[in-house]
Amino acid sequence: PADVETLGRSTWTLLHSIAATYPKTPSAAQQSDLRTFMGTFSRLYPCWVCAEDFQRYMEKDHVQVGSRDEFGKWLCEAHNAVNVKLGKEKFDCSKWEERWRTGWKD
Ligand code: FAD
Repeated sequence: PADVETLGRSTWTLLHSIAATYPKTPSAAQQSDLRTFMGTFSRLYPCWVCAEDFQRYMEKDHVQVGSRDEFGKWLCEAHNAVNVKLGKEKFDCSKWEERWRTGWKD
């Protein structure tokens, strides 16, 4: 299997990209899909210690699927919790869309 770091980088790219393309006003079915996906993801993520901690995080801080902004911010905070655990710098969550959707302005 891929190493934990390569897997992590690829997975965050997928998850933040899902946030970036999630509707601003999702239907009930879309909200249900995302909630189900995140729950399933947290059980199938193939780094078992990572998955265990992430499930525990999601039990305390329930996934927010009400809009793109809600989910994007929730995911950014969840990613920051992992950053803190690993001794990495926190990301400024006011910039998540600039990083993952619209692109940095140079
Ligand atoms: P990554 O953390 O992979 O981030 C990739 C890019 O995302 C960064 O370069 C930055 O541009 C951007 N970014 C950074 N923070 C944020 C944020 N908060 N919001 C939006 N964008 C951001 N590794 C372990 O060793 N132990 C674990 O327990 C563990 N748990 C994980 C749980 C999950 C659900 C996932 C997806 C990954 C986990 N990882 C874990 C992997 C770890 O988070 C990193 O992916 C890995 O260490 C590589 O880090 P990186 O420095 O390349 O940047």
